[in-house]
Amino acid sequence: MAFLGKLIVATMPLAPKPIVRMVASRYVAGPKLEDAITTMKTLSSEGACFTVDVLGEEITSIDEANFFLKEYSQLIDSIIENNIDAHISIKPTAFGLLIDEELAFDNILNITRKASENDIFVRLDMEDSRVTDSTIELMIRIRSEGLNNIGVVLQGRLFRTISDIDKICEELGPNSDFRICKGIYLEPKEIAHTGYREIVDSTNMAIEHMLRNGAYTAIASHDYPVIDNSLSLLDKYGLSPDSGHRPFSGKGPGYEFQFLLGVRGDLRRKLNSEGHLTRIYVPYGQQWYEYGIRRLKENPEVATHVLKALLLPWTNRR
Ligand code: FAD
Repeated sequence: MAFLGKLIVATMPLAPKPIVRMVASRYVAGPKLEDAITTMKTLSSEGACFTVDVLGEEITSIDEANFFLKEYSQLIDSIIENNIDAHISIKPTAFGLLIDEELAFDNILNITRKASENDIFVRLDMEDSRVTDSTIELMIRIRSEGLNNIGVVLQGRLFRTISDIDKICEELGPNSDFRICKGIYLEPKEIAHTGYREIVDSTNMAIEHMLRNGAYTAIASHDYPVIDNSLSLLDKYGLSPDSGHRPFSGKGPGYEFQFLLGVRGDLRRKLNSEGHLTRIYVPYGQQWYEYGIRRLKENPEVATHVLKALLLPWTNRR
């Protein structure tokens, strides 16, 4: 499977762009803000809520951060205008984290403040291990400005995750608010689990640690061994669908399930029909092609998932 993924990634640049666009349209709302709004309006009927990501990351000049500031600001306005139940997801390197940490802090603080005024939660996506510390620090600093509507993502595959949960829970107590996922970046074996079973086990351990600590836990996985284990853990910690429905952070124990746009919609709809809060991650933006190719190069397994979804659609409904 790993070989197949690498082969797809190597030949992808040869594929005509319209074909790539057709495949990508399942996973990306489109190039424009209006595309994201249309997608969310359509999917609202399935009972889901959303977190929206403007595609792009790791800028090379600080001026580029202005683009993201403006776009996220318009996104917040548009979510409110259209009365959509949506949060936003931000990649800190798109706001300059790797160029000038102070400026990235100011930029993300501004967006978080505007989001807070509009009752919108901001999730800092977690990027590769170069920025794990600085992303967590950024979130804690913004919290210390009195803003409760911001949280980070932690990656189950990293060895450090349990101690990161402890550190954040110690700082924020019942206001801790996480998204937990396996982690898309293939990190070196010195700092991360690399085998499937170990990654599932460590992700499940992290989920349990969050729930045990009374943190709000957004479970972002499409994998049955993670979802099924989470459902058992919710029982064990006395959490039911009623405890999932919260406007945003700072409200103590609670949970939700999160899915990427276009991935395992049938499982999402099933969880939703059982009363669990489900949230769809909706990416949009002009940089859909570059973003998709970068993600595939970082983790060729994604290419095999996409191919499987195309060839065996019953395994992965939209
Ligand atoms: P897998 O075993 O990889 O997938 C289980 C099944 O789901 C696959 O067999 C396949 O059928 C389907 N599937 C999974 N991914 C895809 C795909 N891309 N296309 C088609 N089918 C697919 N990672 C980070 O490092 N940082 C983040 O901030 C981050 N945010 C995320 C936010 C959300 C809402 C989600 C759902 C994931 C996020 N991820 C993030 C990615 C995550 O870390 C995993 O790489 C990804 O979810 C695949 O892991 P999985 O648990 O779904 O299990």
